[in-house]
This record gives sequence, C-alpha cells and structure tokens, in this order.
Amino acid sequence: MRDTTLTEAVRRQSRERPGDTAFITPERTWTFAQIHEESSRVAQGLASLGIGPGDRVACLTKQTDRAVVLLMAACKVGAVGMPVNWRLAPPEIEYVLNNGEARFLMIDEVFQEALARISVPSLRLTVASDAKADGKNLPLFDAWRAGFQPEDPGHEANPDDTALQLFSSGTTGLPKGIELTHANLTLMNELYAESTGFDGARSVFFNALPIFHIAGINSAFMPLIEGGRNLLLPDFDPARVIAAIGEHRVSHTFLVPAMMLFMLQTPGVEKADFSSLELIAYGGSPAGEKLMIDAQRVFGCKLLQIYGMTEAAGTLTALSPEDHDPGGARAHLLRSAGKPIRSVDMRIVDPGTLEEVGEGEVGEVVVRALHNMKGYWRNPRATAEVFPHGRDERGGWMRTGDAGYLREGYLYIHDRIKDMIISGGENIYPAEVENALSYHPAVAECAVIGVPDEKWGEAVKACVVLKPNASADAREIITFTRERLAHYKCPKSVDIVAALPRNPSGKLLKRILREPYWKDAARQVS
Ligand code: ATP
Ligand code: MG
Repeated sequence: MRDTTLTEAVRRQSRERPGDTAFITPERTWTFAQIHEESSRVAQGLASLGIGPGDRVACLTKQTDRAVVLLMAACKVGAVGMPVNWRLAPPEIEYVLNNGEARFLMIDEVFQEALARISVPSLRLTVASDAKADGKNLPLFDAWRAGFQPEDPGHEANPDDTALQLFSSGTTGLPKGIELTHANLTLMNELYAESTGFDGARSVFFNALPIFHIAGINSAFMPLIEGGRNLLLPDFDPARVIAAIGEHRVSHTFLVPAMMLFMLQTPGVEKADFSSLELIAYGGSPAGEKLMIDAQRVFGCKLLQIYGMTEAAGTLTALSPEDHDPGGARAHLLRSAGKPIRSVDMRIVDPGTLEEVGEGEVGEVVVRALHNMKGYWRNPRATAEVFPHGRDERGGWMRTGDAGYLREGYLYIHDRIKDMIISGGENIYPAEVENALSYHPAVAECAVIGVPDEKWGEAVKACVVLKPNASADAREIITFTRERLAHYKCPKSVDIVAALPRNPSGKLLKRILREPYWKDAARQVS
C-alpha cells in the first residue's frame, strides 16, 4: 500500500533500507536512516521552541539535503514546511515570511544580507545552514540540532493536513501561499515515479532545481519516497553536471529547457558519458524543435515534457517520449504540452461563462485532480475564485489561469487568462498577436497587453523591443499586423521600449507593463 503522508514514507524507507544512500551532495552522503534520525533531532529542537501543529517552518537555502531534513522535521511535529524563493527581493521575502507567520528560519550565508534589512516578528529562531555563516551571530543548523536526541516525536499526520506551503512565483500578482497536503504530495510523487519510470531499486536521480519550486520539491521527495538515490547539486554548473551524470550513473533528471540548452552548449558535451541516462523530464515552458533534436542526439535518452503548476502539486499533462519525434508525421505534437496524466480530468471553458467550449477552441484550462491544492493560505476569496464550484470528493474543478485548447486529446498552451484582452466583447489572446509581430524583421521581442479604451472597453497595445540598428515606427508595425490578423486583434497603439520587464526566473511581467495605463481605471491589474 502506498504511503499517504510524507512522514510515513520517510519512516518506512528508514526501516526498510536504513544503510542505503539516499542523498549525495558535494559535501557528504545521507543514508535513509540518517535523514530520519537527523529530522527527528530537528523535530525535537522545533518542539523545544514551542513549534507545533500548523506553525510555519521556513528555509531560504540552496541546500536541498538540509532543507529536506528541516521540512521532514516540521512534518514530525505537525508543522508546515515553507521553502522561500531566494530569488525574491528583500521586501518580497519579508512579505512572504510575515504572510506565513514563520516561526523558524534556516538561511544560507549568501542571503543573510537580505535578512538584515527585514523584520519578521513571529520568528523564534533563525539558524545558518552552512558553516561559512559562522561569526554572523546565527547558530549553525548542524551544531544546533546536535544538541537534541534523535527521537521521533511520533506525530501522526492526517493525509489532509497541510505538509508544505509554497508560494506562487508572483508572475501575475503578489505571491500567494499555496497549501499542499500530505495526500496531494504523496499522490503526485507516485505519479511522478510512474510517468518517468523511476524505480527506487535501480534508478539514480539528479536534481539541480531549487527547493522552493514545486518541481524541486517533487524531485527531492520522489526518489526519497521510492527508496532511490538522488544526486543534489546546489548550483547549476553545466560542465559539472555533465561530469556528474557519468560519474554517478544518473538515470533520471528534471531540467528546465534553458538548463538543457546550457548543457548542449558546453564544450566537450558530445564526448561526455551519458550512457546511464534513461529519461530527462523538462517543463515550465515548451522546448523548441532544434533543442529537441539536439537533446535526443547528444543525450541519447527519452524526453518527457511536463505542464504543471504549484496549485496542482506538479504535473497536469505530459508529452510522452514517443511523441517527441521531430522529423516524423506527428512532429506538430511537439508544440503541445501532451495529454492529461491519469489522475487529471481536464476541460476547456469560456473564462466568462465557465461553459465548456468546443474541440480546438481556446479557453481557460480547468482541472480536477486529487492532487489539487487545499487552497490559498488565509485567502478564502482567491481560493473560491479558482474553485468556482467548490470542492468534491475528486478534488474539485480548479481554474488554472492558463489559456489553451485541446485537440485530439493533446493540450496546447496559449497564454495566461489574465493576459487575455476583451475588446468590444471579443476575446483576444496576446500570443496570437505576438506571434504575428515576431515575423516583423525589425522586432526582437514584444509583449501585447490590453489598455483602457472608452469605446471598446480594452484596446490592444504592443510593447516592442527593436533589434539593434533596426528601425520601425508604430504605424508601420500596425500595418504589418493588418496583413496577418483580423482587424479587431491588431494593435491600436505601439510602444517602442528598450527592454521588457521580467521576474528573476525570466517570466515576462505583463502587469508591470499594464500598470501605468490602468492606474486610474477601475480594472484590477494584478
Ligand atoms: P503565479 O501563479 O504567481 O503567476 P506561476 O504561475 O508562474 O506564478 P508556477 O506554478 O511555478 O507559477 O508556474 C506554473 C505556470 O507555468 C503554469 O500555469 C503555466 O502558465 C506555465 N507552464 C508550466 N509548464 C508549462 C509548459 N510545459 N508549457 C507552457 N507553460 C508552462
Ligand atoms: Mg500560477
């Protein structure tokens, strides 16, 4: 029978394979028994601070091994692990820690400067995760926990208790706390192992993703729950990763497309030993056809694309290795994000009426799955917005906020619904307009947004970055789109800008582009 809590899964692995290696880091290795014992010590330490059920235990760290020990310790006292995005600016970190009322914080030395500038009154103790932090008046995590006994406090979590709270990345607004339960995460990890073919008895995972991201969480916990080995490197250095794959006989990994690209551009990659690699999962954005061809040739393994989101505890659809056939008759499938995985019911609805739309028509992607989140932390309004019909025994229908269409069972992602423009009652998806603009010889990059318009409600505006030394004016760009798009979809105005605003992970921030235009208008911009 599968485990229904993370705590049980880790306890079981420590009983069944105590001496086997679970984590390999550049500094040390951890056996399953050590992860269990050390998280029990930390749990005792948390309990000694009065931290218990429902309290938030945060970390701001690149050290996945220690983060997992801390998150497991939180589970063992019924508390909630809260990994924080270290790419955020100090005021955002302050917002997130205060929003979650963090009681405990583990922090890497490199982020301590940020900590000095913020105030989190709920914190009872802050520890440094790495020895380099010594001398900055913070106790070291390793030394602090050594003062406690390795006794499991024995808290029995309910599968529906919140195990982790992650924060949305804030692409479309302020970060929101996403409560994921033990049931959500254990089910997702089972599906993740199934879709990637990871087998704890023989597979070796490699994980370079940050622990604050859902893909990083699942890539840390899935191999642990499955009883397999996981190589953890805190920073993504392509040359080092390439060497480590051969050295540790890595069979499975999850990469974002940019990571694959960096590896393929590394000198000597063609001669590297990838003979142990069985499958690379990738996601977050689609990968181009050229990248796919190169990846298949150089890595010589299966590729699996994943579309998912934090609110669904990870995967919603997957494009199978068989559907990665760049030269074949079904090459068009490479533009899709694949088919819903077996746990997911998916529909495309009109974002206004929530009525289902026809095959091939663009609308909002809604999903029902038992791994859908419990809700947004202390935000019943936002929770009710994404679960408009409430919850049911199958997880409830959740709005993803993504626009897309289904064709022959495959999902094609188009845009974010919040980026959709409604002009004169017509829905306009910016991706279509941006695609047309991208064919203009002078356009390097562009973003299409809706701005207030007295007559039409909203009007289409294009923000365009020109190629170096290229020139084009607004009128010419508008005329260019008229040859390619229905009239109502064409930009009514064009701003030529030097650069487009992006968040630290490279996602385009359209709300920043919209803000100046909507400042005085009624519509909310975030
Ligand atoms: P916020 O909710 O704060 O705006 P976010 O949605 O960017 O942040 P995540 O949950 O990390 O935060 O990202 C999920 C989103 O990433 C999806 O809703 C989708 O828009 C995009 N995405 C994920 N995988 C893919 C993919 N394979 N292809 C295209 N887009 C993807
Ligand atoms: Mg989102």
